[in-house]
Amino acid sequence: MIGSFTYESLPCRVVFGSGTLGTVNAEVRRLGGKRALVLTSSQQMTQGVSLADELGSLCAGIFSDATMHTPVEVTERALTALRTCQADCVISLGGGSTIGLGKALALRTGVNQLCIPTTYAGSEMTPILGETRDGRKTALRSAAVLPETVVYDVDLTMTLPAKLAATSGINAIAHAAEALYAQEANPVISLMAEEGIRALAHALPVIAVTSDDHDARTEALYGAWFCGVCLGTVGMALHHKLCHVLGGRFDLPHSEMHAIVLPHALAYNAAAAPDAAARIAKAVDANNAAAGLFDLSRRLGTKRGLREIGMPEDGIDRAADLAIVDAYWNPRSLERDAIRDLIARAWAGEPPA
Ligand code: NAD
Repeated sequence: MIGSFTYESLPCRVVFGSGTLGTVNAEVRRLGGKRALVLTSSQQMTQGVSLADELGSLCAGIFSDATMHTPVEVTERALTALRTCQADCVISLGGGSTIGLGKALALRTGVNQLCIPTTYAGSEMTPILGETRDGRKTALRSAAVLPETVVYDVDLTMTLPAKLAATSGINAIAHAAEALYAQEANPVISLMAEEGIRALAHALPVIAVTSDDHDARTEALYGAWFCGVCLGTVGMALHHKLCHVLGGRFDLPHSEMHAIVLPHALAYNAAAAPDAAARIAKAVDANNAAAGLFDLSRRLGTKRGLREIGMPEDGIDRAADLAIVDAYWNPRSLERDAIRDLIARAWAGEPPA
């Protein structure tokens, strides 16, 4: 049954395909850009240099120090680089960390952003920016940080190691899964969510076995785009709150943590959101959403327990306490003991209950 809903689409131009890097010059000009600052992480410097070559005189400089969690000190250095080279726009080539840096610069200067995402994290589709100052992570939502143009080029994702593709892909699935039971859920986003999960659940096992399968990489990037739209358009719930708490408190690697926590969060919410659970299960071709996601992670060979990625056992109680403070809206009320059990299972790498 279709109930009442509100749907707002976010303005963003998307160019998708293989070899689309070749459109970047025209896309920069389309935005009115004359001098672009290219942003990358140090690991993706080579891709940044190739892009600078492609840009020719449109390239004002390269800043290659983008790091996880968008530390304000890095943003300030990038801001100096932007001003020194008199750039009038930024091109963020990389994963969520690099795109976060571009957003932080746009927030402070109003420059246009063109993003070239090379993971499946989805930040390019959201008006959300997380920043870290003195070790504390804060998040804001503002139209000022939504990128103007996104160029998805499958070719640039071919170098994403299969293990990272797996965890990054499940990170994307998490956005879509929570969109299906979001307070602002609506038919458009639910369609995108289901299709995004289906595409990734189909493509990731292929990539795990044959990492240079171009069709599978294409399907995964397409799915990640849809999942990113879900994250940008409707609110997230328990899974994202848990990851925010765990990531902030224990500095856990972003996408691996998402891949471990997701089946447990889905199990917690399944009875309170049966339609969403059924749609997720169908999209991953399983009888049960949580078990299906746990099985997908197992097939992809991702780490199973938070203890394997650096969370101390004595952090479980503290994490449970924090998870229920300033809680996000969630389809099931947050029960401290049940949340503690959930975290304990995720810590130990046990199947979702
Ligand atoms: P990341 O950007 O930190 O990238 C992980 C590593 O993979 C980096 O070393 C990067 O250089 C490398 N890499 C990326 N693409 C590659 C490729 N194609 N080939 C080879 N190496 C590649 O990781 P991420 O998971 O994409 O992003 C995580 C960050 O993004 C977190 O800080 C998270 O909070 C943020 N994020 C923000 C939003 C938002 O809406 N604001 C959404 C999702 C994630």
